[in-house]
Amino acid sequence: MGLRIHYGGTFDPVHQGHMAIARAARDQLQVAVRLLPAADPPHRPAPGANATQRAAMLALAIDDEPGLLLDLRELERAQRQPEVPSYTVDTLRELRDELGPRQPIAWLVGADSLLGLTGWHEWEALFELAHFIVADRPGSPLQRQLPARLQDVLQGRWTAKEGDLFGAPAGRLLHLQAPLRSESATEVRERIASGGDWRALLPGKVADYVADHRLYGLGIP
Ligand code: ATP
Repeated sequence: MGLRIHYGGTFDPVHQGHMAIARAARDQLQVAVRLLPAADPPHRPAPGANATQRAAMLALAIDDEPGLLLDLRELERAQRQPEVPSYTVDTLRELRDELGPRQPIAWLVGADSLLGLTGWHEWEALFELAHFIVADRPGSPLQRQLPARLQDVLQGRWTAKEGDLFGAPAGRLLHLQAPLRSESATEVRERIASGGDWRALLPGKVADYVADHRLYGLGIP
């Protein structure tokens, strides 16, 4: 059975680091990667761009990219249930219901997300629902001393064989083979707001969208 890879994030905005990681996962596993933007949190104004704008930028970013797809399920869920926060565990349960218990599913994350996993809602259930593919990220060394409970839960799950992700529905961790990428959305937003150089951090069409829509405080003195 094929593998489904989902790549969740705020993507505020999607940057070249996100794109490099999505492409690397697609190329290493030889399957499509579905980028899945998070909904805006309930009862708070969107901090940067809103969900519709973030999704529009993602659509532009993957426009000419074979094997990179957009999955809008968290935004659609938020439209149906605006009061309910969007948790990854709920998204994975929805995918599991849709794809069945035997379908291999993987969630792609940066190392900072893995290191912070114990803060995710019902985080221990995630390993029953999906594999994790983990990209290195500057400042988040995976050899760091992990919280004891996380270390326990990760024990024995790491594999260096891509085939292990195809051979089970969930529960393994694979290290993504990709060069370190320093971009962060925070840095992009800060550079735009402060009048620094930012275009090269974004896919060209995304940079044009930011400029056209004057996002992130662009040009406000
Ligand atoms: P922010 O700076 O606003 O926190 P971000 O750049 O981390 O944003 P997110 O949308 O929060 O972007 O990230 C989505 C996922 O992509 C997360 O799992 C994050 O760890 C990962 N990621 C983002 N940028 C990189 C990068 N440069 N290298 C590796 N992983 C990354």
